[in-house]
Amino acid sequence: MVRSLRLGRIRGIDVNIHPTFGLVFVWALFQWGLSPDGGVMPFLLGCLFVVLVFLSVLLHELGHCAMALQYGTRVLDITLWPIGGVARIEQMPVHPRGEVLISLAGPAINLAIFVALLPLLLFVAVVAGSDVVFTDGILLGSISPVQLLSYLAIVNVMIMLFNLLPAFPMDGGRVLRAALATPLGRDRATSIAVGVGMTFAVVILAVGLWQRQLGLIVFAVFVMLAAHAEGRTVRVESAMQRLRVGQFALWDMGGVAPHHPLTFALRGGPRDLVVTDNGEVVGMLWRSQLLEGLNGGIAGRTIGDIMDTSIYIADVDDSVYDVQQQMIRRNRWAVPVTEDGQYRGIFTAERFVHLYRQILPQPSAPKLALPPEWRDAVTESWRAFRKRR
Ligand SMILES: [Zn+2]
Repeated sequence: MVRSLRLGRIRGIDVNIHPTFGLVFVWALFQWGLSPDGGVMPFLLGCLFVVLVFLSVLLHELGHCAMALQYGTRVLDITLWPIGGVARIEQMPVHPRGEVLISLAGPAINLAIFVALLPLLLFVAVVAGSDVVFTDGILLGSISPVQLLSYLAIVNVMIMLFNLLPAFPMDGGRVLRAALATPLGRDRATSIAVGVGMTFAVVILAVGLWQRQLGLIVFAVFVMLAAHAEGRTVRVESAMQRLRVGQFALWDMGGVAPHHPLTFALRGGPRDLVVTDNGEVVGMLWRSQLLEGLNGGIAGRTIGDIMDTSIYIADVDDSVYDVQQQMIRRNRWAVPVTEDGQYRGIFTAERFVHLYRQILPQPSAPKLALPPEWRDAVTESWRAFRKRR
């Protein structure tokens, strides 16, 4: 797989572009550069048109991201592909209202761009006549600055309508699911939305085959795969919601005590440790903290001197799903689990990944969206785990 190139960073979100994007400019060359009506000027205008269309797509994705950030959801990155943009938003909030607003924020941006261009186009139409604005020559090789703007307006309406189609992975599919989730529950709502998406894809496939339109056929297959993947993701989520975190916490001999010397924390190799006092969790000693603490000299220092006291504690009855969400939100790699206030074991992101692999053993399991810092930690501990065996 070819790596995406980083274009820049907006509000902490990496914006990437896939190298296959270059193909769009090759297409622009044939469309406007080498066509009978074409030339250098039409080619340059064509390239500008392509850039503006993808700027609209980027703004659409940023619309989703801005709303997601409002709901405290983390956005990993945005990647622009020749067929559109993808924003990796960590987890759609399960709350239906949030999901609707995040989904609608993208299409709303395209509507706003269309509305912003409208007065300009109306002005040109009044001054220079409507045929200057509304000609369909652009895809036949000729292109003028006014045509460019009118097509940009039309493309934005098309992006909006296309994304409002009620099928996954389009925004409309998520809106449909969220609308059904309140009366029916998220699981039922998802299966219905997946069904609607599938039906929709079959109709498009039939039309594509009948009209011999390769684009429609590819699109239909794409919608089918996405609907299937979404259904599976939600099934995994609800399995995680049924599992209790207490079942998967590791008993590490009751953790360490605050009065223990730092050297005590090093037995068995440096790792994240829970600090307990009479069975009650009082802090965490992070592996990185421990290694840093060692630099300052070890003599006479105790675990209590450097431990982290701002901790999130899970209860044995909390669902694996909820705990994982909290871990992502708080960027915690390990969490102490208690029962009636008494320490029962540690639950780590590594445990979670193993569990996830067990629930979905097939190699085609959907990729787990982990924050980048976690990904390194998981790979590292996975390597250590394999070495130990
Ligand atoms: Zn969207």
